[in-house]
Formats: sequence, C-alpha cells, structure tokens
Amino acid sequence: MEATDATTSATRRGSLFVVGLTGGIGSGKSTAARLFVQHGAVQVDTDALAHQLTAPGGAAMPAIVDAFGPLSARPDGALDRAWMREQAFGDPSRRATLEGILHPMIRAAADAELDRVDGPYALLAVPLLSERGGYRERMDRILVVDCSLDRQIARVMQRSGLTREQVMAVIAVQPTRAQRLAMADDVIDNDGEEFALAPQVEILHQKYLRLAQAKRTAAGPGHPDD
Ligand code: ATP
Repeated sequence: MEATDATTSATRRGSLFVVGLTGGIGSGKSTAARLFVQHGAVQVDTDALAHQLTAPGGAAMPAIVDAFGPLSARPDGALDRAWMREQAFGDPSRRATLEGILHPMIRAAADAELDRVDGPYALLAVPLLSERGGYRERMDRILVVDCSLDRQIARVMQRSGLTREQVMAVIAVQPTRAQRLAMADDVIDNDGEEFALAPQVEILHQKYLRLAQAKRTAAGPGHPDD
C-alpha cells in the first residue's frame, strides 16, 4: 500500500500512528474523542471492548464465571457489574483476578482493531493508562484530557448521581492527576466550558495528521511490517 497523503489509510501495523487517549473518570475523554472522530480519527476504545467481552455471550464470561462463580453473571449471561463492583472494588486480590482475565483479552482485542484501522491515525482510548498494561509500546504519543479534581468530582456526581464520597473512592484507585500529566505528550485543558474543547482538538488533529504522515513516510513502502 502506498501512503501518499495525510488522509491515506494506514492499515499496516508498523506505520499506523497511534495516539493514546487517557484521563481520569469524568475528565472529558469521550467528549474529546467524539470531536477527533468527527475530524476523521479512528477510535479504538478499550472501555467499549471491555463491555463487549462481558456482554451476554462475551468471550470473557466463561473465565469470569469459572473464577467468581455463577453469581458473577446475570440471567442473560452478561457480567453483573454491580455485584462485581462490590466484590472487586475493596479487595485487591479479587480485582487482580478480574484484571488478569480481562486485561489480556482487552489488549488482544485492541490490537486486532488497530490492525483493521482504515484512517489517517488511531486514537487508542485507555482510561486507566499507566506504566503497566503494555499499551504504551503501541502508542506514538499520549494525550491526557485534564481538569481539576473539583470539576471532575462535580461532573461525575452530576452525571451519575453518586455521592461525593463514592466518586472520590473511584478516583482514589485511579492514577493521580500528577501521574497522568507526567506521562503526557499533549494535554487538553477541560477545566472550562465544553465549547473550549473544539479549538484544542482542531490544533492537535492537524498536528497528528502531520506526525502520522511523517511516520508513514519513514516506514516507506518496503517497511518490514508490510
Ligand atoms: P468516563 O471516564 O466516566 O468515561 P469521560 O472522561 O469519558 O468519563 P465524558 O463522558 O466526556 O468524560 O464527560 C463526563 C461528563 O462531563 C459528561 O456528562 C459530559 O457531558 C460532561 N462534560 C465534559 N466536558 C465538560 C465541560 N467542559 N463542561 C461541562 N461538562 C462537561
């Protein structure tokens, strides 16, 4: 496949430019991702993949039921999220068991989707991106959607109806704002009104098109991943 301009698809694994998108709960990742997709970026969303894997008939359900018993599945065969949240939230070893099942499957599904990407570049959304997890080697850049803790808490409370304490308990098990910012190549400031996102996304999108084109050019038509 010849890569001639920024809008040429880059399906070859080695030449696809991948932007990792992360941010704390309620920071505005989905809102920002929608804007990138409107510009033509292709999103691979690990949250959506996790939901597919744990839906009725989902590929992760047999292993989850094996490990946690029949109460972990609802009558329709989907993961009982409320039950699992209670089991896994306060118990690190149960959480590790669940993650040990789900994470490799999500990772494999994300890799498969990235291999099928037909677009100028991919936006790989990983809400809890950290040093662990193995996603970083697929990412050319890391984009963090950032807002203050207070705003994050307020937005999640408004959206979900959870109490302040419940939201803070979720935030406490996520990477900290400082940890996220330390790994960021690019940052979207989502402390302001939602309309302030569009111009930031526009600038970053143009930058990613240029970087994606440069990567395809560097890989060349004879790239070993062809
Ligand atoms: P999660 O981690 O829970 O998936 P997220 O990071 O994807 O969340 P969004 O779903 O994009 O975050 O945003 C969280 C909530 O805050 C949504 O209800 C969204 O409409 C709202 N929101 C996002 N950005 C802003 C903003 N700048 N001003 C006001 N509300 C916002």
